[in-house]
Amino acid sequence: DGMSELSTMILDRIRDVPDYPQPGVMFKDITPLLADPVAMAAVVDELAGLDEVDKIVGIEARGFILAAPVAYRASAGFVPVRKKGKLPAATLEESYDLEYGSATIEVHRDAFTPGDRVLIVDDVLATGGTAEAAVELVRRAGGLVVGIAVLMELAFLKGRERLDGIPVHSLVIV
Ligand code: AMP
Repeated sequence: DGMSELSTMILDRIRDVPDYPQPGVMFKDITPLLADPVAMAAVVDELAGLDEVDKIVGIEARGFILAAPVAYRASAGFVPVRKKGKLPAATLEESYDLEYGSATIEVHRDAFTPGDRVLIVDDVLATGGTAEAAVELVRRAGGLVVGIAVLMELAFLKGRERLDGIPVHSLVIV
């Protein structure tokens, strides 16, 4: 079909693990992709070329692995968004609902220079709750979100609909 060579290369290197971390979830395991230097270079180059940005935000933990080399390649700064309690200095926090319970993520208050152009990077876009909370954090910290980039978007969960008006770049949509 119309999938690009890059999309095919990524799809071939993301492993489906059924019932992880709980029954009914099909986990998208990116470790085969991470272990392939040619595929990783192609992914990093693609993500680094999307937008002119000042900062790349990585979402803990798999987002970090992608965002750090993208930041280097794009000559941008790397900013971590972490689970509550992990960042050492003064933070802003956002909570969002999960299927069962809720989660809280944080960013350092001084992570951005006002007006910084920011690309948010993660491995998988599922319900969009994490990305939506990350967008809110970046904005509250003074950054301008120019896009969200993920390796894989799970379209049936409609995460994109929660990110109204923000360009979502998904290298593979399933
Ligand atoms: P969500 O907030 O529902 O969009 O979930 C996104 C976050 O959870 C990302 O940080 C993903 O790494 C992780 N995630 C959600 N669903 C999956 C899945 N099926 N496979 C791998 N990671 C997932």
